[in-house]
This record gives sequence, structure tokens and C-alpha cells, in this order.
Amino acid sequence: MNSNIAKRASSIAKLRNSIISLVPQEAMMTSIEFEGPEIAIYVKNPGILLEQMGIIREIAKTIRKRVVIRTDPEIRKSKEEAKKIIAELVPKEAEIKAIEFDEVLGDVIIKAEKPGLVIGKGGNIRRDIIIKTGWRPVIIRAPPTSSKILDGILSQLIGESSYRRSFLRSIGERIHRDPLFKVRGVRITALGGFQEVGRSAILVETEESRILLDAGAGPGASSFPDMAPRFDVEQLKLEELDAVVISHAHLDHVGMLPILFKYGYNGPVYATKATRDIMVLTQLDYLDIMTREGRIPPYTQREIRKEILHTITVEYGDVTDIAPDVRLTLYDAGHILGSAMVHLHIGNGMHNIVYTGDFKYAHTRLLSKANDKFPRVETLIMESTYGETKLPSRAEAEANLLSIIKKTAERGGKTLIPIMSVGRGQEIMLVIAEALKTGALPPMPVYIEGMVTEVTAIHTHYPELMSPAVERAIHAGENPFYNENFIVVQDRDKRQEIAEGEPSVILATSGMLNGGPSVEYLKLLAEDQRNSLVFVSFQVEGTLGRKIKDGQRELTLMSNDGKLVPVKVNMEVHSVEGFSGHSDRNELLHFLENIEPKPRNIILNHGEPSAITQLMSAIEKKKYSVKWLNGARIYAPYNLESVLLL
Ligand SMILES: [Zn+2]
Ligand SMILES: [Zn+2]
Repeated sequence: MNSNIAKRASSIAKLRNSIISLVPQEAMMTSIEFEGPEIAIYVKNPGILLEQMGIIREIAKTIRKRVVIRTDPEIRKSKEEAKKIIAELVPKEAEIKAIEFDEVLGDVIIKAEKPGLVIGKGGNIRRDIIIKTGWRPVIIRAPPTSSKILDGILSQLIGESSYRRSFLRSIGERIHRDPLFKVRGVRITALGGFQEVGRSAILVETEESRILLDAGAGPGASSFPDMAPRFDVEQLKLEELDAVVISHAHLDHVGMLPILFKYGYNGPVYATKATRDIMVLTQLDYLDIMTREGRIPPYTQREIRKEILHTITVEYGDVTDIAPDVRLTLYDAGHILGSAMVHLHIGNGMHNIVYTGDFKYAHTRLLSKANDKFPRVETLIMESTYGETKLPSRAEAEANLLSIIKKTAERGGKTLIPIMSVGRGQEIMLVIAEALKTGALPPMPVYIEGMVTEVTAIHTHYPELMSPAVERAIHAGENPFYNENFIVVQDRDKRQEIAEGEPSVILATSGMLNGGPSVEYLKLLAEDQRNSLVFVSFQVEGTLGRKIKDGQRELTLMSNDGKLVPVKVNMEVHSVEGFSGHSDRNELLHFLENIEPKPRNIILNHGEPSAITQLMSAIEKKKYSVKWLNGARIYAPYNLESVLLL
């Protein structure tokens, strides 16, 4: 053990020495610190490094680490002075909304409506700010609609900056030591979401490190631990876990993440920024819904706050060290805002894994198509939700939805659309907003209830992550998610009035009728045959949505005073599938045809047994036309099973 510590210390000292030899004297370096996966170099003269960006690139290339330049506290001007200098440097048209300071890291956070103008041509204004104020600017977009969640996360990160710095330092020392073992094999263990949809979690182990991919909740189960992945397996020792990587912010991928902190996890969580923001929101909402329904949540806001401090955000395409023998890169998955395919480069490239997470291998109104080119890949872990289903085209789906809404309104009814707050909600809002604008739908109120509006505000914060059309609209100052007929319902007492009022559309969470306002509207609307219920997303086995979709019409639901009451579903029930954020069977097969390079192993997950079986036999058939598949091994493990990859 002692020799391990010595080895660790010597490799870190080596790293320090090579940085010292590379940084020019004039930069006046005062210290080198680990900041999670990055190396922070503190200097008194940042100008010299910024004027010659080549030097930073050279350092990063030589030490093969990500480098961030920070300023020595001595050169930082007072906050008042810094604010004045920034006001002089940045043109008025940038519309700066707020300036905040992170004294621990020496960052000045500038929120502006036009962040590009704060950065300046070729980054010249950003450079001037750091040189003249001594504070390192972090420039972010002030969204057209403000978001309480984003403001909350930011102020927590600033307020608890010293905790975060010492956390990042300790993580950094763990990541940047030399590997103690040579990687000979990789073991993948299915903890949840195999031969089922829900509670996704995968453990990836090498001799050196342990990485967890996703920590989801099962929407079909009502209590802990049934709703959690099999965190009870022997191999999962939370104190030995190096990292958790999150593919996207849906509850079936993040719902049980805070639990890990409750039971002793102290390490980092890697995700895109949008995933972090949305995941905090969905988890808080999850707690809220559970509490309101009288269920006992398995964790509290405390664990969510800890999770925020432990989350390290990464952008698509950034290569990040997350363990001595593992590098992480995230790629766009096209599923929801910020969703990612996870690429793990293990043991100097000895083995490369791509975990698709949920992905859409086609363009949607909201997002671009999922990535299919990777630097290397030996093992592909692929979702199979629609492995047995061919979905109708987008255009068909839109026409179908609009015609149901129209017919329902013509006979004096209301259309209830249960939506997931993230993804399908925004997609449906875009479709309806446009139909109202073009006259494809007659004017009628569209009620929106649940945390959709907060999520939509987060979307407007990240235009560059959405489809070119939506991005252009937001840059032009429009809000494509808005229409004058949209009414956000904040008062629960309004539901009765809406249910008894004129024809309308109601968009309400949750998307599978497992709790939330959509269930309340269902109770009010179910018995009137003029009304319609339209499912637009996948309904997981065990949820109320799935039961109704499968034909159940006599329900027993909890009334507001806690009594069980019978509810008869007389309203029309429709399922409009083409809006899915998942790839359908053909898209999954196309992805396999096009993925570069070609994997040796294909592991199927995130699908019910019939979807997985059907997809497997479709892949077998593909072997006649797609030759490389003949050399690939296909696995469809169950939870608790492991696959050993060599
Ligand atoms: Zn998802
Ligand atoms: Zn999922």
C-alpha cells in the first residue's frame, strides 16, 4: 500500500515538473493545482499566455491533460473596480444582465443576452477582461425566460466554492496518478435497464477503476428498493467507485443518483451542463410528486445539493480523464436536450466502449440527429426500446395529432396529452405553436401544467444544443415555444374550471400517468366520451398509462381526499407514436449499418424482452447484407449478469 502512495506521489510530481518547464518565466506562475479532470495553472501575468494561445495548447498536448489558466489572487482588482472595467470594455448591445464573482476560483461570471459580444472578435474582449481585471471571465447566456433552477445552481456553486475546490483537488489527484495495474480485461455488469425499460445502470470495471453509467429509477415500481437498480451487488463498493457518468436527465437514468450520495458516494458525476440543470429539476419534481402522493421519497434535497457540488460538466467532444486508465468523451444523442452517447477509452485504447443511452437516429423539430462516428469502438451498448416497432413518420404523426385535436374540439371535447416534462413536451409545444400560427389548428386555449415551463426556460438557455431552426429563432430573439394561446396553469383549483370549460388542449406531466397533474385531469375528463386522451411517448410496463394504452377502461384511482374511487374511461384513447425521442427499429438498424468504426461486441439493453428478441433476430437477418455483423458477438444480458470483454 505504501509503495502505491509513493508511486502516486511521484507521478504527480513528474506532471508538476513538466508544467514548470513549459510555462514561460514572464507568466509568473505561482501555483499548479488539480481541478478535477483539469490542471489549473495560477499566474500573475495571464496576458502573456493568452496572447500566445499556442503555449497553452503546447502544454496541454505535452502533458495530455486539459489545462485552465487562473489568476493569482494578488492581481485581482476589487469587485467594484472590475465591474467598472467590464462596463467599459463590453459594448452596450451585449445587454449584460448580471455580474457575479467566485472568489475561490477567481472567476467573474457575466450573464449577457448576447454572450458573443462579451467574448469579442477572436476572444479579444474576453482576453482584455482577464488582463485588466485579474478575474477570469465565464460568460453565459441570460435566457429570455429566467429559470429559478439555473439561478439556484449557480448561486450554490458560487456560495460553496471552497468545498467544491477542495473536492476537485482530491478528485484530480486520484485521476492524474499513473495506473497501478495494466488493463487486461473489462467487465460490464448489468445493474438495471436490461431486458426492461427503466432504472438504467451499468457498472464498467477494469483492474484499476470502476465507472457507473447512469443511475435511473424504474417508473413502473412504486417504492424503494424495487425502483432502484441492483446497487446491492457485491462489486459495487461506493467508496471505490471512481466516477458516475450520466447519459441524460430522464428519471429512468438519473432518478436514483442522489441515493448514491446518501449511502456514501463521494466522487464525481460527469454530465453535460444541460443534463445537470434538467436532472436537478426532474429530481426535485420527483420528490415533490412523491411527497404529495403520500409516498416516502428515498432521498431528500440534501443529497441533490451534494450531487450539484459533485457534478463536473463536460461538453460534447471534449476528451476528459476520469480515472487513471479511462478517458471520457460525450457525443450528441439527439434524444433530449443535453443527451449524450458515452465513449470510454480504456487502458490507452486497449478497449473502447460506446454506450448510446437513449438516442434518436433522425432529426426532430427540436434536436439534431445522433452521432454515429467515433474515434474507436470495440463494444457498443445500444438501447432497444423500439426494437420491434416501426414508427410512422414525423409528418404522419403531426397530421394525426392535429386531426385528433380538431375532431375532439368540434364535438365539444378536450384533448389531454400526458407529456414528459423534458423532450416530448417541448416537441409537442413546437408542433402546436406552429399549427396555431399557420391556422392548421383553430384558435383554442392550450393549458400547460407541470414543470414544463421551467424546463422550456432551460431550453432557451442552450440554443446551440437544438436544431438549426430552433437555434436561429432564439438567436433572432423569438421564443419558438411560445404562442398567445398557451396558458400556464399554476393554480390547482383551476383544473375543474378547465375540465368544464370550452374545447381545449391540455399538456400535463407526467407522461406515463404515474402521478402528477396529468392523472388529476384524467379523473376529471375520463368519463365524458367527447374528450380524448393522446399518448405521445413510450409507456413503460406497470404504469397507469401502459394499462390504459393496453385497453384497461375500468380504473381505481385515489381521490383528492385519499379514497379509492372507480373511474370509467369513456374518452377516446389514442396513441400517436411518431414523436418518440427513441430510434425505431429501422433507425436502430440503420445506426448499426452506419456506425464507424465497427464494434466487435454489441450489447442490447433498455428494451422489454420481446423488443430485444425481435431486434436480435433482425440483426441476424442483416448479416446477409451487412458483412461486418458476421464477426460481431451480440449479447442481451439480464440484470445482475456480467459480460467480460477482452
Ligand atoms: Zn430518455
Ligand atoms: Zn430511458
